[in-house]
Amino acid sequence: MSLHKRFEQAFMPNYGVPPIALARGEGTRVWDVDGREYLDFIGGIAVSSLGHAHPALVEAVSKQVATLAHTSNLFLHEPEVLLAERLLGLLDAPARIFFANSGTEANEAAYKLAVKYGKREGRSYFVAAENGFHGRTIGALSLTGKKAIRDQFGPFPVDVRFVPYGDADALKEAVTGDCIAVFLEPTQGEAGVVPPPDGYFEAARQICDATGALLVADEIQSAIGRTGHWFAHQADGVTPDILTLAKGLGGGLPIGACVGFGEAGRLFDKGDHGSTFGGNPVSCAAALAVLDNLDLGHVKSVAAGLRGGLEAIRHPLLKGVRGRGLWLAAVLKEERSAQVQQAAAEAGFLVNALQPDAVRLAPPLVVTHEEVNAFVEAFPAILSEAAA
Ligand SMILES: *Cc1c(COP(=O)(O)O)cnc(C)c1O
Repeated sequence: MSLHKRFEQAFMPNYGVPPIALARGEGTRVWDVDGREYLDFIGGIAVSSLGHAHPALVEAVSKQVATLAHTSNLFLHEPEVLLAERLLGLLDAPARIFFANSGTEANEAAYKLAVKYGKREGRSYFVAAENGFHGRTIGALSLTGKKAIRDQFGPFPVDVRFVPYGDADALKEAVTGDCIAVFLEPTQGEAGVVPPPDGYFEAARQICDATGALLVADEIQSAIGRTGHWFAHQADGVTPDILTLAKGLGGGLPIGACVGFGEAGRLFDKGDHGSTFGGNPVSCAAALAVLDNLDLGHVKSVAAGLRGGLEAIRHPLLKGVRGRGLWLAAVLKEERSAQVQQAAAEAGFLVNALQPDAVRLAPPLVVTHEEVNAFVEAFPAILSEAAA
């Protein structure tokens, strides 16, 4: 029986059956179980920041797993302290860290910090963005502005009011002195890699300052070099009160982080929150290898090449390109992203049909100029194949 058939019979149907079964990877290249080679321009959804099987990551993880794989939070260990200090050093203001295992858990921590703040201050509701994505657990899902994945699992224990993303006036209207926190992605990821208008994040900061609401930046997809900055909010010159991280941080090993700046970093009292696996030595060693081996200068230059190359393409199916850094959406004039994804795979490239009219590109941050050029050269024929 084929692997696909066995998958279908063994798993719940929530993912459908993915068309390609991957076997191994090296750098930006991956091979499927039949030995077909692909250039990976999705990187496990902006996760494989160092590409596949990066020697530094392999060494760090192998050494750590052979030394001490797990402690629980009954014991502390050096890799977690090194990683927390390293992250704090990359941030622009004093902060404290909590480690989790995933994005949604990082947001659960943020949500619980905010609940504590709200109870203390007598505040009653959250504000988040329409089409925003914050995760699948109930807390994070309640803040997720995508009706199709949220509504059937409600009602939720908190009042969340949704505003159109990028509209500073709507945000100002929605956030009063009664608002606990505003959850926003600096650029919306799952919505289609949608950057807001210039000044939106600064406006959000001002609105939160004026009303006392916490500003929570969900950088689970956008941080750790993806936009050419360590953190996306740094490009806006704005410091949030709470920052959440995951995807690219572990380079493929599961880790999430919730960062509380200033007072927000001290809201939890002893016993308020925890995670058995969160901040385990192996994931922390992986994240340290990621932070030690990323080259933001390379990200910026290769990203400029990818964007410039795509923008120079004139094709009847291609409307334009949006996004930041090595995190782009090729926007189509018709709803043919699934066809583009399939045609790209046939041409030897992995991309992601993110929205019906948007194809996500989030290659490993070590992607080379040559690999980017190869994709740009192949893309017009991929578009033509998808349009046919
Ligand atoms: C992926 C993502 C999440 C959820 O992360 P998981 O690790 O899948 O739980 C939350 N927020 C944003 C912005 C994301 O891109």
